[in-house]
Amino acid sequence: MPSPVAHSVIPALAFLRLGRNLDGGPFWKKPLLLAGGVALAALPDADFLPGFLLGDPVRYHRGVTHSLIVCLLAGLALFPLFRTWLPEIRRGPMAAFCVLCVCSHPLLDCLAADASPPYGLALFWPLSGERFLSPVSIFPPVHRLPGPAWTFVASLANAANVRGWLVEVMFTATILLAGIAVHKRSDRAFLVASTAGSILCFALYWILYIR
Ligand SMILES: [Zn+2]
Repeated sequence: MPSPVAHSVIPALAFLRLGRNLDGGPFWKKPLLLAGGVALAALPDADFLPGFLLGDPVRYHRGVTHSLIVCLLAGLALFPLFRTWLPEIRRGPMAAFCVLCVCSHPLLDCLAADASPPYGLALFWPLSGERFLSPVSIFPPVHRLPGPAWTFVASLANAANVRGWLVEVMFTATILLAGIAVHKRSDRAFLVASTAGSILCFALYWILYIR
C-alpha cells in the first residue's frame, strides 16, 4: 500500500501537462488543480474510515473502493466539480484527468508488495470479487498489525516502514524529475539538472529497494 507520496506521482505528471491551460489566470487555480488531483488519487483509501469507526481499520480496505470500475465512475462523478472550478480546461482533458487520478490509485497499490491481510485488491468488483496483486512489486510492503485503531496506527511506526517510505520518495522523485525534464526540455540547463536528479534518485531507489 503506497502512501500518498507515491500516489501523488500521476496527478503531478498530469498537472505538468494540464497546468499550462491555467497560465495567466488567478494564482490559486494551479495549486487547486494539483491538490485536487492528489486528493482524487488518495480517495480510494477513504475505505479506512468506516473500519476505524468500527474498531477494525482494514475491514473494508482494498475492497469496493479499489475497483477500477468504481474508480472510473468516481472520477466521472467528480469531474463536473472540477469543471466548475477550472472551466479554462476543456471537458475531455479535465474528465481524463479526474478518471486517471482516481484509477491510478488501485494500479499503484497493485504494484506494492503485501505483508498483511487483506491481501490484494478487488480490482474488478462487481464483475469479480477475486483479489489481485501484481507478481512484480515496485514498492515494499507496509508492516502493520491488525486490531483496534490505536494498535493499527502505533504498529505503523517502525524502521521497515520508514525505509519503505524513503523508497517511495525516491521512486516518486525519479518519475517526477524525468517528467519535468521532458516538460522543460527547451531549457537546456533545466533539462540537464532534472535528468541528473532523476538518475540520482533512481540510483538511491535501486540501493534502498532493488539491490
Ligand atoms: Zn489503497
